[in-house]
Amino acid sequence: MDVPVGPHRPTVDTDSESWWQAIQDRRLLINTCAACGRRSLYMRPFCPHCWSDDVASTHASGRATLYTWSVIHQNAAPFDASTPYVVAMVDLVEGPRLMTVIEDCPIEKLSAEMELTIAFRDDEDGFTVPVFRPVTDFGKEKK
Ligand SMILES: [Zn+2]
Repeated sequence: MDVPVGPHRPTVDTDSESWWQAIQDRRLLINTCAACGRRSLYMRPFCPHCWSDDVASTHASGRATLYTWSVIHQNAAPFDASTPYVVAMVDLVEGPRLMTVIEDCPIEKLSAEMELTIAFRDDEDGFTVPVFRPVTDFGKEKK
């Protein structure tokens, strides 16, 4: 599966098709290592921490906390009506860190370690991307 690229789509440091395929089914997959107990986003048949191949793919809860973020005001895509948008690194409660986009959060409300939950956004081309939004409902304010 070719993952369509977009200026405001999350990137995951994995070349796995199965991870993105699960996202299309609105499931966030992580790997759990039976040898060291650590979890990762790498949908590879081994653990990136201890190199054990005793890993199993499990569903993540979709809960996360905000680690860091950047507000994108402009990008090279012409006529991109989505700016400004927030690109962020979030820490899943299971451990792995994910680069994603924060939606439905006023920029001034962003704060480190704020609680987030996953939301699946269906783009116009039918491709589903994982984004995160605050657990606290700030209301859908117009950007
Ligand atoms: Zn391991």
